[in-house]
This record gives sequence, structure tokens and C-alpha cells, in this order.
Amino acid sequence: MSYLIKGGRLIDPASGRDEVVDVLIEDRAITEVGTDLKPGSADVIDAGGHIIAPGLVDLHTHVREPGREDEETIATASAAAAAGGYTAICTMPNTDPVADSAAIVEKVWALGREAGLVDVIPAGALTRGLAGEKMSDLGEMSGSIAGVKMFTDDGHGVQDALLARRAMEYLVAFDGIYAEHCEVEALARGGHMHEGDRSLKLGLRGIPAAAEELMAARDIALARLTGCRLHLLHVSTAGTVKLIREAKAEGLAVTAEATPHHFTLTDEALEDYDPNAKVNPPLRPEADREAIIAGLADGTIDAIATDHAPHALEEKDQELSYAPPGLVGLETALALTLSELVAPGHLTLTQAIERMSVAPARILGLEAQGGPIEAGRPANLVVFHPGNKWTVDPSTFASKSRNTPFGGREVTGQVRHTFYYGRRTVNEGVVETGAFV
Ligand SMILES: [Zn+2]
Repeated sequence: MSYLIKGGRLIDPASGRDEVVDVLIEDRAITEVGTDLKPGSADVIDAGGHIIAPGLVDLHTHVREPGREDEETIATASAAAAAGGYTAICTMPNTDPVADSAAIVEKVWALGREAGLVDVIPAGALTRGLAGEKMSDLGEMSGSIAGVKMFTDDGHGVQDALLARRAMEYLVAFDGIYAEHCEVEALARGGHMHEGDRSLKLGLRGIPAAAEELMAARDIALARLTGCRLHLLHVSTAGTVKLIREAKAEGLAVTAEATPHHFTLTDEALEDYDPNAKVNPPLRPEADREAIIAGLADGTIDAIATDHAPHALEEKDQELSYAPPGLVGLETALALTLSELVAPGHLTLTQAIERMSVAPARILGLEAQGGPIEAGRPANLVVFHPGNKWTVDPSTFASKSRNTPFGGREVTGQVRHTFYYGRRTVNEGVVETGAFV
């Protein structure tokens, strides 16, 4: 199949191009970028008023398969990702069984290939069973067909500093990334939201900012000691942003991500005890939200990642203190970024796409993702309308789960088409699943 995307505004942070062009896709690749291209036998897509950008890359997706296929499968997570404009997702290892061996990461990788909608790149667990006690066989996962690059116990921080050090020392040998969910359990245990004035008022046990910042500081010190690449997952506090800024100024190999919910919402969202606003790390006060935005604007925080965390309705739909943390984010991330960061002028459109595509592709070393958009490159692209307004309706999600605090919210910016290696995975906003399964 070949496609001619006509008259869209190309925003390609990798090459610096920002101009109205046509893009010709033949077979799996981009074959021409220019003006007044002739379609020949290609399907013509009128992209007037639309943005053409490299496909988005998510560093942080929970797919729930294996183990909780009632909440999400790799196929449905892939469909949700495509609907959100993504062409690659990095899956977190907290499945059942845990992705802590070559066998499991290869299974996740293979199911991703089978779904065929996005590159599914498994992250591997740092410790066996995510128990924080014994290191997993990191080398075996790295050397497997899944080629694991990122290792994390996400959902938990690695509490044992010596174990964290040993894992980093080991990862240096094959340029692996140590990715941390920064949370000192002794300080966070039993908490349901940010610890502060609001948690006092609501009578809920809180998680202090220090629970995140202490581990971020420890890991930065260990990265300095070992030379290991360190990636800080879902940064949520002003203090962590400051630590990363200093680590980067020092030249350490530290990268970081932030989620759309942490730059969109504050702990005020918990005022009515909405279980869908319960996330880990928790939503923080306004000053932290502003620090996250400033960190994304100046590049201290490299990437926007979803922390897409599907949960069954019966689990989320209970009293806040019993509900598990997490929300589904793949289908709202681009619109929240455009609405909350680009529209108010915090980030340019080019910066937003850099944070959602180029930077995460660079962190994971994905040659085929993140652009540049030029002849000979794999056709991994998103076409979106930057100004279309729409109302988030969770019942329409391609994800199997519906847990989002953004239902009913009006947002700006809508994915129209996604191309994955030249195949149209989303056509006029509708995921074309059956075609590749
Ligand atoms: Zn996490």
C-alpha cells in the first residue's frame, strides 16, 4: 500500500524542519518529502491544517499481559497506543509472571510483533519477581531477541542501595539503563495522596515529596559512582527536578520523564475522593506542577511518558483508600500536551514533539523511531489536527480499561492518522486492527 500525505505542516525536530510539504510513503518507507508530489497509484490523504510528525514513543506503558488480560492485553494496549499517535511503547515488567527473564521479555516482544500496531519494547525487572532482593539476569534479557535496554522495578523503588549499586555496575557493561520508580517505602507506605495541607484536610495518609527526592538523590550519587545511565521515571516534585538539573549540569548520564497527569492536575483533583485521580507518585501541589512544566520546557525533563496503567472497573470503583493507583493515558497524552503545554505557550509544538518522540527514541536507542522524516527512513508517522477540540469519552477508548480522571474534559488536538512502518494503523481516528492480526 502507498500513501501520499498532502499539504501538512511537517514538524520534524530531528532535522529542524517546520514547513508545509507532501510526504510519499511506499511499502514500509518514506520515499519522498517535497511539494507538489504526484500521487501515482497512492492513496491521497489531505493533511491541510494538520501536523505531520514522527510517531510518538512512550517510555512507560503497563500492558498487564501476561497475567491480567481482563484489564489490558498487548494487542489492546497497542491499539490504544496507535490511537494516541504512538508507534512504539516500552512496557513495564510488573506483569504476572514478572518480566524478569529472557523467556518472559521474549514473550512480550513476540506478542507485540503479533499485534503489529507499534514496536513493543519490553523493559526488564531489575530484581527477581520485583522483590528487591536478588538481581535478575540482566545480561540474559539484554542479549535476548527482545534486546532489553531499560531495567526497572517500576511500581517499587529498589530499597537496598547496595543492590542498586550492583545492578548499575552490571548494566554499565552493556550500556543498559537503570530506571527508577523513586520511592522510599519507609516514608511512603500506606499513603494515598501527596502529604501536605490537602491530605490533612481530607483525612488521608500522605506520601511526602521527600520519599521521591531521597531516592532520586541516592540514585544520582550511585550513577556518579558507577557511570551507569540512570533514567528517573514519572518525576513529580520540584525537588526532583532541581536534582536532575544539577546532575545534568555536572554531565552525568541522567535522563527523566514526566507524565501528562503530573503537568495537568494537582492534588486538588482528590478533593472529591476520585479514585481515578489516585496515582503513584501522587498528584502534587501547584508549585510542583509548575516545576515539572519548567523542567520539560528547559529540557531538564527529557520526555513525556504516559505511565498508562489500566485497572478493572471493580478495582478502581471503590473507596479511595482501597483503589489501586494508576490511570490509562495513551489516548489522551498528545491532547493534554497540546492543551496544557503548547496552547498556554510553555512549550513550542516542536519541543512538544521532541519530548514525545525524538527524546524517548534516543533514550531507548530506537533507530527507526523519532524521525528524521526523510526519504529512505521507515514510515513511522502521526498526522494530527492541532486545533480540533474534542471531549474525552472513556467509553470510546481502544484500551480495555476506562480508569481516567479526564472523562468529560474538553481537550485540543486530535490524532487523525498513524503510520507504522508504512501501514496505516489509524485512519480518520479509527484504529485499523484486524488488518494486521
Ligand atoms: Zn512507577
